[in-house]
Amino acid sequence: MSASLPHPALHATHGGIWISRPGEPTAALSRGEAIAAAADTPMIMLNAPLVAARLGLSELSGLDLLELFAFVHPARFAVPTPAGMARALEIDPPADDASAAEFLRLAATALLDRMALPDWRERDGAWTAAQALYRARWPWAPLITARLQTPERAERWLFSRLPEWSEAASRPPARSIALDPADVTEELARLTGDNAEPREGQLRYALAAAATFAPRASENQPNLLLAEAGTGIGKTLGYLAPATRWAEEAGGTVWISTYTKALQRQLDRETGRAWPDAIERGKKVVIRKGRENYLCLLNLEDALQGGFTGRAAILAQLVARWAAYSRDGDMIGGDLPGWLSSLFRRAGSIALTDRRGECVYAGCPHYRKCFIERSVRAAHEADIVIANHALMMILAQRAQDEGGLNRLIFDEGHHLFDAADSTFAVALSGQELIELRRWIMGPEKKARGRRRGLAARLSDVASYDEAGEQAIIEAANAAQELPGEGWLGRIAEGLPLNAIERLLMATRATVYARATAQEAGFGLETEAAELDGAMIAAVAPALETLEALLRPLTRLGQRLEAVMEDAPDWLDGQARARVEGAIAGLGLRCRMLQGLIALLARLGGPADPDFIDWLAVDRVEGREFDIGIHRRWLDPTIPLAETVLKPAHGVVITSATLRSAEGWEAAEARTGAAHLDHAPSHFAVSSPFDYSRQAEVLIVTDIRKGDTAALAGAYARLIEAARGGALGLFSAINRLKAVHARIADRLAQEGLPLYAQHVDPLDTGTLIDIFRDDQHASLLGTDALRDGVDVPGHSLRLVIMEGVPWPRPTVLHAARKAAGGGAAHDDRIVRARLAQGFGRLIRRSSDHGHFVILSPALPSRLLNAFPVGVPIRRASLAEAVAIVGGERENMRKDPGIADSRLSSVTPLRHQQSD
Ligand code: SF4
Repeated sequence: MSASLPHPALHATHGGIWISRPGEPTAALSRGEAIAAAADTPMIMLNAPLVAARLGLSELSGLDLLELFAFVHPARFAVPTPAGMARALEIDPPADDASAAEFLRLAATALLDRMALPDWRERDGAWTAAQALYRARWPWAPLITARLQTPERAERWLFSRLPEWSEAASRPPARSIALDPADVTEELARLTGDNAEPREGQLRYALAAAATFAPRASENQPNLLLAEAGTGIGKTLGYLAPATRWAEEAGGTVWISTYTKALQRQLDRETGRAWPDAIERGKKVVIRKGRENYLCLLNLEDALQGGFTGRAAILAQLVARWAAYSRDGDMIGGDLPGWLSSLFRRAGSIALTDRRGECVYAGCPHYRKCFIERSVRAAHEADIVIANHALMMILAQRAQDEGGLNRLIFDEGHHLFDAADSTFAVALSGQELIELRRWIMGPEKKARGRRRGLAARLSDVASYDEAGEQAIIEAANAAQELPGEGWLGRIAEGLPLNAIERLLMATRATVYARATAQEAGFGLETEAAELDGAMIAAVAPALETLEALLRPLTRLGQRLEAVMEDAPDWLDGQARARVEGAIAGLGLRCRMLQGLIALLARLGGPADPDFIDWLAVDRVEGREFDIGIHRRWLDPTIPLAETVLKPAHGVVITSATLRSAEGWEAAEARTGAAHLDHAPSHFAVSSPFDYSRQAEVLIVTDIRKGDTAALAGAYARLIEAARGGALGLFSAINRLKAVHARIADRLAQEGLPLYAQHVDPLDTGTLIDIFRDDQHASLLGTDALRDGVDVPGHSLRLVIMEGVPWPRPTVLHAARKAAGGGAAHDDRIVRARLAQGFGRLIRRSSDHGHFVILSPALPSRLLNAFPVGVPIRRASLAEAVAIVGGERENMRKDPGIADSRLSSVTPLRHQQSD
């Protein structure tokens, strides 16, 4: 290693602040001293926004080691902690927090030294990027440029290095075959590996799934399997075995969908068993995500060429480095480190994706290299496409004309209801409609960017087809009546500009008149019933506005179809792709307008029993950001069954908790199976885990509801007792923040780092990575963590829930509760949430842990949410702390010992697992 750097390094945690200066022993600093030192000299730090938060600053600049890592090793994974960095660099980690400051200087030197190694894999493009970063005044740039030699030949510019996708002929329809059980058995053995123990439950599961791949007997009657596979069965490989076999033999594509990113990543990894060769796997398995996840190369080019300034320009260069090495250009959950965006202002990375529908398709100079277009095309050729539930539902509807998505597997099937609920929702909101206005009319006068209106995008069509031109003009005129820039301010001041703004103003007034604030400062809503005269009077002109817009857009879509059929001379490949893009975009907007028209047509009239309508003002900490009228299906599995399940040929809906305590009938109702004309097949296999020895549920009886100090104290004592490894689940962000603020310093003093969603400036995926990586770390979070955390092993040994996870009493919830059996509906939701939270704890047969709920109010009737066999006890906090801290080992050996020592602990259940 070369001589260490002359720069000091600063390390700050909730437990202390340390500085390492060259040639001096590491010193502890007060907060004030650290702030003064950081203002004086540029410091080496790890995650500057996090260090700033620890120092109580809103911003802090310096030499961030994570930025250097992103430059030297783009598209490589590293946990953003000293230990994680040490592992990524293959150097010794610091022994403790105090020595971490010195470690940061060593790690920086090691990273800079890598650029001199002959086998540095990411050398290509580094010199050019370093020059640009120097001009952007990146603090690392002088150190980097001093170490990089000018290349002999000019380096290839990112946009010329990326491969082009190629157009392929449409794939022939999949062959009709039935899978041979012997082949599926053989395939499963291949996937699990030679040395794996044969798992009988997994094999039965695979064979049950295989049956759905047979040709279906009747139209609209897919082979549908509802399959519950307890945790540890190995269901992923269980369904991958028939899926890969069928894809190969039939020449078709199997679409697999998950609800959480964690499972999507795991699934992607598991496909490596089917195709160990990375290049082959890249062709066979494609992850398909929404456009807004991918880097848009045209946006990046704009950013690199002066569109971004200051820190954002540095982000653009680091993203360009990554893009050259990325597997698929996925910026959210792909190989771009999740922490990179949080080092910069978030808006920067969002502006690099295609979030605002600005894509110009074939008009884009990077169209043939575009990551999004490549993933769409690769999915056509793939054996396995991995998506999420929402995207799968949207694509299944769109693809019906082209033969549809025929073979579907929904993993985490217990979330289908929620996913369908959002997918089939309709919302007439200011934010949605201003986007529609921009799509039609182009940008407002002062707006930046290349966004152009319909007229500019389709100027060649307009000059060729008179009726098309007329439709474009009429659509642009009608769009003037949609909300424009500054609509929220105008509505607040009572100065609406047009019919839709007047409707939104009446909506806001109705909400404020009727809503009761459940949580001060957050969203307000009220039922769309018994609306008063002002609101009803505003509906009719708004309805006319939407209809006046729908007519020319529909006509324009028809004209574009006609132009495609005429195929005039000027319609070359590029123009054709652009017109096809416009047809797809128009179809989407016309469907949206039809939904909004149906929604408005109903307001003030008799209620439609199939739908729930309400009015809402969306706010964050008291600040309004949207106003709207919302519609949901009372039962969103009706459109799910109609548009996704019925057109398919074979569907597997699977989960570890599909039936919950209520059996198959409830599972059929929640997945849409109940709306098919034929009965689905059922399959269930229990978890192989011995829950009676691996886990225990503790219901703490002496924490009063609303006593935040006691709640925080309970979290701290339990985390101390377990020595970290705790996942804390909250229903409300403000309580999470309050608890974190009270206990983070105390725990850090004991070497128990505490991280939290909504507090630490890091994305959820990175927080989970940090938690997984440090057995003494704990993590607090809200709903997303209840189901999205897969941390097998000792890192997660304690789950603490702040209380009974009752649903929030919204308009939507009240309507579904009334229709779904009243209290039984709430019970169902709570059971599902308890089961999901508990499901984080035991992921492997060697895992052990406690699930603690800090509320005496958990009714006994809900205890069947936990797996059969798990001991469940009511206990005081002191007893729970004793059990978590020391008695667990004894209890595993002999549960009777614990009972005798903790005489007041009340065992509620200790059944044998089946
Ligand atoms: S084709 Fe569209 S999404 Fe792709 S790089 Fe070009 S503008 Fe961006």
